[in-house]
Amino acid sequence: MNLILLGAPGAGKGTQAEAISAKLSIPQISTGNMLREAVKNGTELGLKAKAAMDSGDLVSDEIVIGILKDRIAEDDAKNGYILDGFPRTVAQAEALDSMGVTIDHVLEIHVADERICARMSGRRVCEKCGASYHVEYKPTKVEGICDKCGGKAVQRADDAPETVLSRLEVYKEKTAPLKEYYAKTGKLLTVEGQEEVADTTKLVFEALGIQG
Ligand code: ADP
Ligand code: ZN
Repeated sequence: MNLILLGAPGAGKGTQAEAISAKLSIPQISTGNMLREAVKNGTELGLKAKAAMDSGDLVSDEIVIGILKDRIAEDDAKNGYILDGFPRTVAQAEALDSMGVTIDHVLEIHVADERICARMSGRRVCEKCGASYHVEYKPTKVEGICDKCGGKAVQRADDAPETVLSRLEVYKEKTAPLKEYYAKTGKLLTVEGQEEVADTTKLVFEALGIQG
């Protein structure tokens, strides 16, 4: 099964992608995590991406399409994958189509704007493995330490309130049009993001026809 998760920053795509990944044993492919890793390692790619990410803008289509293409060609992606954070522009969606990829479902997690900002302030991400947490909705067992790998769970620089607002603007302008793009193909499913992670997961599994 090849899935795309759509939704505003902070809607919970990463968290739900992790849940689907664990359930179906297919990888979560997060372009955001891959880019953060590149920035952390100071690679050439990371250097190119950093300024855009810090200011809440999108990294160029050319760069992101390149890393995505390489990633889905890897062995573990043979039986399917969950795209989390890609595509984010119509140009990226068209590039995916032209790679000959068949998408089974596009799942939108919808969360009202006014709830997004509150969610983002509590969000934490593991520096080492990229796992996502929330101080209120999905806390780590030990404060500040990733449950999965023991890495540090920290706030992302681009989760600062000013940057969150511009990321929401970018989402509306560049990514939201993808709903229409995929609605036309009949593949778009929408679930309402709930306060509790497990409640959203239940709706997500139902929408995808996965047995909880
Ligand atoms: P969120 O979903 O919370 O906005 P991500 O971790 O998906 O966060 O992305 C973080 C940042 O990485 C984005 O703000 C953007 O700068 C960059 N990025 C991630 N995926 C893409 C993409 N598909 N196209 C362009 N930029 C991307
Ligand atoms: Zn971790």
